[in-house]
Amino acid sequence: MFPEHNQPSIPNSQLDGRAIIFCAPSGSGKTTIVKHLLSIDHRLAFSVSACTRAQRANEEHGKDYYFLSHNDFKQRIANKEFLEYEEVYGGNFYGTLKTEIDRIWSLGKAVLFDVDVEGGLNIKTYFGNKALAVFVKPPSVEALEERLHFRSTETEETLRMRVDKAVHELVYENKFEHVLVNNVLDEALEEAERLVNEFLKR
Ligand code: 5GP
Repeated sequence: MFPEHNQPSIPNSQLDGRAIIFCAPSGSGKTTIVKHLLSIDHRLAFSVSACTRAQRANEEHGKDYYFLSHNDFKQRIANKEFLEYEEVYGGNFYGTLKTEIDRIWSLGKAVLFDVDVEGGLNIKTYFGNKALAVFVKPPSVEALEERLHFRSTETEETLRMRVDKAVHELVYENKFEHVLVNNVLDEALEEAERLVNEFLKR
């Protein structure tokens, strides 16, 4: 979903107004790539999404996500507070609050997004050539399934939902200018750094 009104204002200095979007099926390793970029590049700040799924033990409210109740999320949809939002997995909503983007731009930084494939394409459409959109691809569906098992954050049912959605999302690969195959992690991290550096120099 991509509400049309009340978009954040687009500032015009070099880094603010810029957006870097990493999209991938769950389990492709994009969060690892995003965390790596944030740890080495202080020109970037993470867009903390809002979501309605349960908080995991290692997650912090306001850092990993803003964990909202379904009612709160729905109220914010009605108030047009989201740049985009999706019902990503069976009944759970995830979305980007416009205030989050304004917060990061006001720091003079570029916004780094970790979102699902449809959300990423919507954000790319909105920001146009002010945005870099990268599709992170697992070497295979089997590898992705193995990573999700290894992560141990899912039940059999939610793991199956994530794998099914991944198979659907892999079809979108050709809509992205940049596809990053996450086979050997070190190489994927290096390639991600290169793409970001090139984009921020433009
Ligand atoms: P997880 O539950 O594993 O943290 O995230 C599930 C999926 O939702 C991931 O693919 C993640 O990138 C995506 N996601 C996180 N935040 C957003 C958001 O703000 N908008 C959209 N469309 N997807 C999001």
